[in-house]
Amino acid sequence: MKQGCMGSILWVNLTKGSFKEEKIGGKIYEQFLSGYGLAAKIIFDRQKPGLSKFDPDNIFAIMSGLLTNGKAIFNGRWMIAGKSPLTGTWGDSNCGGDFAPAIKSVGYDGIFFIGKSEKPVYLLIDGKKKELVDASGLWGKKDTTETEDYIKGKHGEDCKVACIGAGGENLSLISGVANAKGRLAGRSGLGALMGSKNLKAVALNGNKSVPVNDEDTVWQYTVKFLKELETDLSDFGKTMKNCGTAGTLTDSTESGDSPIKNWLGVGVKDFPPEMANKVNAFSVTKYETQKYHCYGCPFGCGGICHIPGEPLLKETHRPEYETISGFGAQLLNDDLHSIFLVNEMLNRAGIDTISCATTLDWAFEAYEKGILTKKKTGGLELTWGNHKAVIQVVKEIIKNEGFGAHLKDGVKEAEKYFREHLKIDPEKMKEVTAMHVQGQELPMHDTRRQLGDGGLGLGIGYEVEPTPGRHTSTFPGWDQYIKTSGTAREQFKKFKFQRKYEIEGDDEHKAQGENLKGSSCAEDIINGVGLCNFGFYFGPVLPLVEWINATTGWDKTFEDYLEIGQRIKTVRHAFNIREGIDVANIKMPERARGNPPLKEGPNAYSPNVLRWDDAKKDYYRAMGWDENTAMPKRETLNKLNLRDVEKALYGKKK
Ligand code: SF4
Repeated sequence: MKQGCMGSILWVNLTKGSFKEEKIGGKIYEQFLSGYGLAAKIIFDRQKPGLSKFDPDNIFAIMSGLLTNGKAIFNGRWMIAGKSPLTGTWGDSNCGGDFAPAIKSVGYDGIFFIGKSEKPVYLLIDGKKKELVDASGLWGKKDTTETEDYIKGKHGEDCKVACIGAGGENLSLISGVANAKGRLAGRSGLGALMGSKNLKAVALNGNKSVPVNDEDTVWQYTVKFLKELETDLSDFGKTMKNCGTAGTLTDSTESGDSPIKNWLGVGVKDFPPEMANKVNAFSVTKYETQKYHCYGCPFGCGGICHIPGEPLLKETHRPEYETISGFGAQLLNDDLHSIFLVNEMLNRAGIDTISCATTLDWAFEAYEKGILTKKKTGGLELTWGNHKAVIQVVKEIIKNEGFGAHLKDGVKEAEKYFREHLKIDPEKMKEVTAMHVQGQELPMHDTRRQLGDGGLGLGIGYEVEPTPGRHTSTFPGWDQYIKTSGTAREQFKKFKFQRKYEIEGDDEHKAQGENLKGSSCAEDIINGVGLCNFGFYFGPVLPLVEWINATTGWDKTFEDYLEIGQRIKTVRHAFNIREGIDVANIKMPERARGNPPLKEGPNAYSPNVLRWDDAKKDYYRAMGWDENTAMPKRETLNKLNLRDVEKALYGKKK
């Protein structure tokens, strides 16, 4: 098989301590690509519905992408997948770093864990050797960075490591899996799923190469892109090159993209430039000592910083936009040192900074409104901007002690705990909003914004995607991609598909639905092949179709790939329906829907408040799902060749 894949996955049964290889047929890749597309196919087929969150029969998968290890670039994303213990829905998360190629280097497109080990272990695959190694000496003792150092010290620097920290060990529902010393696949709470299996780490070291159909052609497209990048670098690309996502903070607080004070504040007023400037890109990069790249990236938007006088921050990742916005702008905290510190602490603990910040946000608002008092917080004063309190709560969340122990499972569980245990007047409790969708804490992108598409696509994504509440589950750049990619544009002309993707089409709802569908399904392609989304925004058009076709030997159009994206999306969505989730009623908090409206600032009186429900229906119709229940229609499942999904959702009878 020369399709960019290894043609094989590994099953690890942690209860039995056994391994089993499974061959995957070429047709499966052609239908689901690899990455989380392949994971969705396998998990949907093999996992019983309705399992409790830490039932050992839950499958936990670590995946590489179809383009990983080939001669494409931006191809270093690895993914984790399984049923999310945080939301009860399909869960996945992806991350850069150096782990993606290691999965293929040991001969697999993905590793699937089932069962639960009696004692903590880590999986070691070193050349031909596979073993589950006792990790009792690491569990509860070493954070993610120390675990990586330990394993590399024992098995060699070439060993690549993905591991959990205190978060996953404590079954924190907002924990993730780290690689490259603190870079986290943080969303969906899958660190807790890994922790529930007593699996501390996965350590891989191999030298298998990936079979590619036409490596020279892949490389020619890469070289062309790199040449164009030299002259056509976009403004966003320049910002990213200089300071990574941290570079977007100032614009985001001014434009209304960054939520402020649990979505009740206004950036320009509550976190004005004199505060924002203390934590903006210029301030952050002053501490940068070196740049770094993910595997396969010519760009390198990462930075390592050194903060003098703080041992933990001797060598620390430059915080990303989400973290600076979450622990800075949201909490009105302009103390940069505290942001560096909580970023490092959470990365080491393997806890998602987005979820953690949004949970703190809720607590700070509850404190402001007198719902949480000093007595209930263990003496902490949760006043906006109190960076010392921020640091202390984060420490307690990591240690699972004190007030923080009630926040370690995210904002939905925190709200529930205080509502049930502290005898707070339910009416009073309604004054504060836990900003989550189906349990997933909202990221630092405001759905009421007027920027770009006006937050509509973003908010619809928060509600309709199989992993709700996420800002990277759709690909807003997709329409730009078809307008500018020669291949895609030609194909769209040829198939007369152009018109339906123009939002100004004669049927506004149809056009809107197709647009939402496009950005939704395009993201499933990207995650199937393991590319970094940023690569699409740096100026030149990424040769997506060309790379996949040359890698696999297929002769598919962008439209064909969008259909594959739709298939992957539909399986992930069907997973949620089969779990008994009322998918059509997954909604953002009214505050995020713009109800009641903000009365000042760039997001004041957002018109989106009137648009959500219609736009959702437009999306469902375009996807071939029932517009009221979001149930995929039989004809859609047939068209996508998803007969097993049809059987699971409708039973055998026609
Ligand atoms: S652009 Fe940044 S995040 Fe994306 S692959 Fe490159 S270094 Fe990694």
